[in-house]
Amino acid sequence: MINRIKIIGAGISGLSAGCYLQMNGYETEIYELHNIPGGLCTGWERMGYTFDGCVHWLVGSSPESNLYPLWNELINMKRQKFVDHEIYNRIWDETNENFIDFYTDVDKLESELLEKAPEDESLIRSFTSAIRRLGTLQMPVNKAREVMGPLDGLRTLVRFLPYINTFKKWHKLSIKDFSDKFKNPLLRDGIKALFIPEMAMLFILMNMAWMGNKSAGYPIGGSLKLAENIAKRYKKLGGTINYNNRVDKITSFEGKATGIILASGEKKSADIVISAADGYNTIFNMLDGKFKNKKMEKYYNNYKVFPSFLQVSLGLKKEMKGIEPNQYLPIPGGMKIDDLTTLDYLGIRIFNFDETLAPKGKTAITALIPTENYKYWIDLRNGDSKKYREEKKKISDRVTEILENKFGDIKKNVEVTDVSTPASVIRYTGNWQGSFEGWILTPELGFGQMDKTLPGLDKFYMIGQWVEPGGGLPPALMSGRAVAQMICKDDHKEFTTESF
Ligand SMILES: Cc1cc2nc3c(=O)[nH]c(=O)nc-3n(C[C@H](O)[C@H](O)[C@H](O)COP(=O)(O)OP(=O)(O)OC[C@H]3O[C@@H](n4cnc5c(N)ncnc54)[C@H](O)[C@@H]3O)c2cc1C
Repeated sequence: MINRIKIIGAGISGLSAGCYLQMNGYETEIYELHNIPGGLCTGWERMGYTFDGCVHWLVGSSPESNLYPLWNELINMKRQKFVDHEIYNRIWDETNENFIDFYTDVDKLESELLEKAPEDESLIRSFTSAIRRLGTLQMPVNKAREVMGPLDGLRTLVRFLPYINTFKKWHKLSIKDFSDKFKNPLLRDGIKALFIPEMAMLFILMNMAWMGNKSAGYPIGGSLKLAENIAKRYKKLGGTINYNNRVDKITSFEGKATGIILASGEKKSADIVISAADGYNTIFNMLDGKFKNKKMEKYYNNYKVFPSFLQVSLGLKKEMKGIEPNQYLPIPGGMKIDDLTTLDYLGIRIFNFDETLAPKGKTAITALIPTENYKYWIDLRNGDSKKYREEKKKISDRVTEILENKFGDIKKNVEVTDVSTPASVIRYTGNWQGSFEGWILTPELGFGQMDKTLPGLDKFYMIGQWVEPGGGLPPALMSGRAVAQMICKDDHKEFTTESF
């Protein structure tokens, strides 16, 4: 029996693969370049504050969701508390006086949008009716498509049939193209600011539907805690995580993966290698581009990835109770981030809903700033560390000023300021172009699916956001679960799981 499995990366997909393989009797070890688990699902502590760098919503948080039992295989869902926000986001107009609330409840959302933008009634109604329609859809999650037989395929098709028209209509439409149809300027610009404009509308409709069902809650404790809990689960199941161990190469012999070589030069042999690390690095560097096909090259040459980002995080020595936590604030005159990026809106999160992230009576605030020029930040950090620090300060000063203008009483209460950049994302996660979620599900990409195996290379699998277009935490979980199902199938073993 295949036994020694080496997994590259302790992000959610690597941890998930490790847990499920351990549950099925395999001996696994994870090699992780960072000194903590989680990959992009992370947060960092500064002077008692935890600045969350990831999770806004965890799809599957409600017991009604068919993802819930899967999460319950990795973490104790009965113990995990969730917050379901009443308002997904509040977006202000340029005068900073009027706003639209994107309620998570679809009826409230509809009333709010109709009240604030009656001129767009028919668009609003088609938007909200699609959310209602998708709210009844449960994605098939239990069996990976790679191990499905013809009957499973047929069942999936039958399940999707009632939604086909909704899928077709909204998948072909980008967020930008949809929002450009609105007459109301706040809706027109606001929807684009709230989401990535190139993304297919279907994505936000499904997210709004899940939030409406209260099955996309924020997990109290945040991203790092979530990752730590899954890492704990993996270790309890007998797995080992080797932190501070970057994998440089994947070795192969006669078309079979045989092991890995660490940055230290140490070689580790394996019966199977699974890469849960960045896709580009895996294919083109760790495997020297020897195993690839046209489809893969098309992805890496043509398709757009989620941008990289800066995050300004502030620790405030004051409470901010009663303030709407998720807001988009206009930036008068725009904020130049780098040569390719000027920001018109600042998306902020006031973590007044999670008291575990700040000392008593204090509050953590973060602002996520997407950039089109990840390279600038890397070059700056490598080439001119003084200017790098100055640029970061300039941006955090501007963010503080915007918050001061909106809420008052901010500047004098800031006791911690932290700025991460694309250089931090790459240093700590290795993700290609510092992307925060892999491939964007654009209308062109369709329902893109990628293979978890490479042509000409046996005993090797790739998992995680680089083979699950659209990315996200549930696909990371499912990707790890899928690879365990594939390995069990090859081994003629029944796939089994254990729940909390
Ligand atoms: C700001 C932000 C907000 C997000 N919000 C949400 C959200 O609300 N909901 C949601 O579902 N998703 C969200 N996501 C997306 C989600 O976090 C990711 O899609 C998911 O965590 C990806 O997991 P992964 O395991 O596939 O990849 P990663 O997290 O990238 O894990 C890869 C791991 O491999 C390691 N690694 C890389 N190269 C090597 C190497 N050579 N050797 C050893 N180790 C290596 C990395 O250090 C990392 O730990 C968000 C992401 C970001 C950044």
